[in-house]
Amino acid sequence: MPRMYRLVVCTALFVALVATDIAKKANEAHAERLVLSNRSVSCGAANRGKLNNGVRLPAKGAGYVIPGHWLKRNYRYGSQQLVSLIKRAARTVARSHPGAILGVSDLSKKNGGTLYNHQSHQSGRDVDLHYYAVDRKNRPFMPDKYMPHYLYNGRAVYARKMGRVPERFFDLARNWAFVKALLTDRSANVTHIFASYQIKSWLLKYAKQKRASRALISRMHKVIMQPSDSGAHNDHMHVRVGCSHTDIRLGHCRRDNWPTSHLRKRRKGKIRLHYWRKCPSKTNS
Ligand SMILES: [Zn+2]
Repeated sequence: MPRMYRLVVCTALFVALVATDIAKKANEAHAERLVLSNRSVSCGAANRGKLNNGVRLPAKGAGYVIPGHWLKRNYRYGSQQLVSLIKRAARTVARSHPGAILGVSDLSKKNGGTLYNHQSHQSGRDVDLHYYAVDRKNRPFMPDKYMPHYLYNGRAVYARKMGRVPERFFDLARNWAFVKALLTDRSANVTHIFASYQIKSWLLKYAKQKRASRALISRMHKVIMQPSDSGAHNDHMHVRVGCSHTDIRLGHCRRDNWPTSHLRKRRKGKIRLHYWRKCPSKTNS
């Protein structure tokens, strides 16, 4: 009987090993197929990741434009989910509020990775956006090369490192319509909207005036936040989408940033910095 028992255990172990190996090979084959099919894969964390087969956002489309200043940088690649979301949300606002044009600045590089002047934007799930603005006569203000700071009265005339810039005012109606389009999108999961406390409070107050649902207001409370480790975001909105199931499986996509304290320790210890930057493509490693 003990010998029989050992035989059964050994057979079970062998079957389990074979099954694991088959599953691993199937996963790799699936990854290969996705890579060949040009599907985007977000890898690692937003502040420590890469992007495989990044989707390029066209320079302009229905309701949005990438101003020339940012177009030259060519950081306009993102995951399929992010790029489609920007297009859908901008189109929705343009339809409900004609004349509105969303200014889009940086997404990620084609293959992701570190981006000058940004802590995140590495895995194709982050985008910086201009706030919708109006001029003194309440006419839509076309996005230009500046991202000025909106003061407590909603007016903006100064931009970081640029000094005085053409005057504009925060367009609450359009910014609210855009945030609503983001948070009610059924295909992409927006996990973070970085905006200043002031802007968050304007949006929440306006949403209540417009009788937004409790669920939407509660989601705004959770998702809109002023980051603690970077600027207040009173000059632009930073939007981040979550990982898709496929990205988690293939790219080890992480929903949140890799803790920076951990990064510092790793840098001191000269441990490889690109630990999370493994993407399924051989060309990206
Ligand atoms: Zn950003």
